[in-house]
Amino acid sequence: MTPTPRIGVLALQGDVREHVHVLGQLGADATPVRRPSELADVEALVIPGGESTTMDKLVRAFDLQQPLRDRIAAGMPVYGSCAGMIMLADRIVDARPDQQTLGGLDVTVRRNAFGRQVDSFEGDLHFEHLRDGEAHPLRAVFIRAPWVEEIGPAVEVLATVEDGPAKGRVVAVRQGNLLATSFHPEVSGDHRVHELFVDLVREARARSGD
Ligand code: GLN
Repeated sequence: MTPTPRIGVLALQGDVREHVHVLGQLGADATPVRRPSELADVEALVIPGGESTTMDKLVRAFDLQQPLRDRIAAGMPVYGSCAGMIMLADRIVDARPDQQTLGGLDVTVRRNAFGRQVDSFEGDLHFEHLRDGEAHPLRAVFIRAPWVEEIGPAVEVLATVEDGPAKGRVVAVRQGNLLATSFHPEVSGDHRVHELFVDLVREARARSGD
């Protein structure tokens, strides 16, 4: 029997508890990560939504920036939602002047892309590789969300906005072991994005032969 995937949730800021809960429901061993020793103890990580400028400051204050960059470079599976997507992006538009990211994902992400006045909205998406994805679109909740403005050649687009003024905008991507969504699947009650990530973690482990 394969061991239970041990997945951390970066717990400096944002909606940590919801991700821990959903991952636990999917059979993962989910645990908050606040320090380098806790990061060393997990095989994969979720970076939750929140506020990327604050998260960036805390990542640096808690001496996690370099360890996170090293693990990402070494192929650790990471799923970033909303502010987490911004943290994974190599380039950001509309960043704070001193804002840094962890990087790893060859994309340009625009912060607060749907307009600052648009606090939150929901929409149905067709999301590649989701279980039952063709028959059942995913209800996506966007909260002051970014979108992906440019993608590098190794990046796969998993979902785009399907109607309204932002139609066609890229809101979910994957590059190797990195997965990112503009929206918050942890609040919708539909766990298929987390399920996709847990599968990715299991595949990464199978490939590494552990
Ligand atoms: N607007 C936030 C940022 O720039 C992201 C919002 C979210 O994570 N819900 O970090």
